Amino acid sequence: MIIDILAALAIYFITKASEKIEKSYGNWLKKTFIAATVSILANILIALSFDIRFAQISFCGYFAAINWILYFLVGFCLLYTEHDKPLIRMYKPAAVIMFLDSLSIILNPVFGHAFSVYTITSRAGGDFYQIKAMWPYYVHLAIDYTAVAVAFFFIIYRIKRSYSFYRIKYILILSVLLLVVVMNVAYMMFALPLDASVIFYALAGALIYLAIQRFVPYSLMTSSIGRAVDDMNEGLVLFDISDNCIYANEFARKRFSIVPEKYDLSCQPVAAVINALNEKGLSFGEEAYSVKGQKDGVEYTVSYVIRYNMINDRKGRLIGSYFLFEDNTEQMHYLEEIRAARDAANDANRAKSNFLANMSHEIRTPLNSVLGMNEMILRSTEDPQLIEYATSIKQSGDTLLSLINDVLDFSKIEANKVDITPASYDPHDLLRDCYNSFEQMAEAKDLILDVTCDEDIPAKLSGDRKLVRQIMANMISNAIKYTREGTVSVHLSFERKDTAGGTMVTVVKDTGIGIAEQDLEGLFDAFRRANEKENANIQGTGLGLAITKDLIDLMDGTIDVTSSPGKGSIFTIRLPQEISDPSPAGPFTKNLVAKKTVYRESFRAPQAHILVVDDARLNLKVVQALLRKTEVMIETADGGKQAIDLCNEKEYDLILLDHRMPEPDGIETFSVIRSSGLNTETPVIMLTANVVAGAEEEYRRLGFADYLSKPLHGEDLEATLKMHLPPHKIIS
Ligand code: ADP
Repeated sequence: MIIDILAALAIYFITKASEKIEKSYGNWLKKTFIAATVSILANILIALSFDIRFAQISFCGYFAAINWILYFLVGFCLLYTEHDKPLIRMYKPAAVIMFLDSLSIILNPVFGHAFSVYTITSRAGGDFYQIKAMWPYYVHLAIDYTAVAVAFFFIIYRIKRSYSFYRIKYILILSVLLLVVVMNVAYMMFALPLDASVIFYALAGALIYLAIQRFVPYSLMTSSIGRAVDDMNEGLVLFDISDNCIYANEFARKRFSIVPEKYDLSCQPVAAVINALNEKGLSFGEEAYSVKGQKDGVEYTVSYVIRYNMINDRKGRLIGSYFLFEDNTEQMHYLEEIRAARDAANDANRAKSNFLANMSHEIRTPLNSVLGMNEMILRSTEDPQLIEYATSIKQSGDTLLSLINDVLDFSKIEANKVDITPASYDPHDLLRDCYNSFEQMAEAKDLILDVTCDEDIPAKLSGDRKLVRQIMANMISNAIKYTREGTVSVHLSFERKDTAGGTMVTVVKDTGIGIAEQDLEGLFDAFRRANEKENANIQGTGLGLAITKDLIDLMDGTIDVTSSPGKGSIFTIRLPQEISDPSPAGPFTKNLVAKKTVYRESFRAPQAHILVVDDARLNLKVVQALLRKTEVMIETADGGKQAIDLCNEKEYDLILLDHRMPEPDGIETFSVIRSSGLNTETPVIMLTANVVAGAEEEYRRLGFADYLSKPLHGEDLEATLKMHLPPHKIIS
């Protein structure tokens, strides 16, 4: 009975183990078990034999089965100890030997050559069977023990080669094998009634199962985790449910001098963390913690994030808590560096903006006087010589102004201060405008400026005309600039996508110097000029194309360039635009109206009183001169104080106020005038050279009615006045 139960146990454990371990080992283990079961049964039959002949047959079965137990067990051991590869060729010869030996044993009842069976009486009184061996039986024994020796050898070899827990599983197998051998030897030496070694096959199964499935993996896992946690670059401190410290890894022990046996929740830094969390009404969470120190006279701070959390078992029951210390000093340094860099960049940017504002003011203010006075010369003289000189001054002044505008535009785009304001516009008018602006420039270089437009372009488009014009103007001016002879042609067309919109395509083609292949790549980079040497005498900042590209990107458009050096370039700009009037615009006419050579005022307002405030007296004169024909009554003030005094005495129809003046400046003056209770309804127009990003919005926000940038253009000035003066005082 006991043997049956053990056999059943053996089946259970070996089947379980063989299922879980790798298939090839499992099969060998299974076969070992089958052979062991046969040998156990044969052993039982020996004990139950009713005559010697039957006992002899049972002995044969028993000895033969042991052969195969050993064969399969050795096979398993070799595989399990990873010795299968060199020995794979020995399996077959070994099987043949086992087979021949088993045959010799099984034939014993016929020839009686290996052993004979006799009966002895035990001390307890019962009879049982024993064998008397002859030499073939010893051959059989030798074969079996050789197999056992082979297994021993390889297991011991593996034990020596492996370490820590891996070693244990081999030691377990070795012990079981040793036990089997000892039992077997004892059975033979002391003529025992039962070979107890077979019982241990069950034990072998149980041990192998435990070793493979439980003990080794679990121990390996815990010891590996232990090592890994010790090596971690974070601190870990564990507390049990009674808040006793049960573990602190090396990081925690070293950084915070924690000795687990003497450490509890009242010690730092965990006490500080718990307090801070409690103050926030939290039981668990994370807190920042820093440690200050001094090394070699240098003060330092180490920053940590300490996380406190509970530990639950599988069923969710609280079994303890843990603290995790993360050193984030580097992150903090890094953040500080980023912050410092950001502040420095912001400062630099602010400085740049200030510089631009100042520069723009400094240059625009005298330019205002130059161009304003020049305009007066143009208006008041008939002398062709003088007109020629003044026209040259105007052209150079305009160029200078456009250079400053480029720099300012670029900074505006950089500061993301360019907004797209769509409105309906006439594409023919836009093209005409471009033509009129560049006709003279082209003529001066003897170039043909050829402007054409598809007839089916929509009569009205909707988009930011100012920006589209700026893009086209940049391209046309470049084409003229970089062409010595030939033609600059501009062609406008429209690809309708649907009834609501499409793409406006502008192709600007020139027969100029072209751009070398290698220069095409960085063509749209700011401050980059292609062909530097050749173009040295052509005016430019290298900003035009960068601005153009940025504006095109802003409008979700594209720009392409093809060029062959010496022959010319073609720039194609595609801009999405909406359609406001889909009817075709028809044939394009350049509409060469006779050029406006004679100035005519756009309105008169002899009843209107305005006040002009500027610290530069020359500028006051410019405004007076520009508005002379409008007959507007102008009073002037050369500073904020005088302006305030005048406003206290009188109500004006409009005030033109310069921004930058010695104290009080334009904005201060404005707020004093407004708070004085007089002139509260008077529109105040800001007159300024400060046209950097955001200036316009800022003035409007402060309460100014409008904004005029210096240098003042007569037309703009009149238009603004016409818009803001009381309508009943205007005579058109
Ligand atoms: P710049 O102020 O120098 O004209 P841009 O940004 O407008 O700056 O142009 C950058 C460079 O591209 C110019 O310096 C010039 O070498 C080249 N380039 C631009 N347009 C043309 C063109 N139509 N033909 C030849 N080269 C051109």
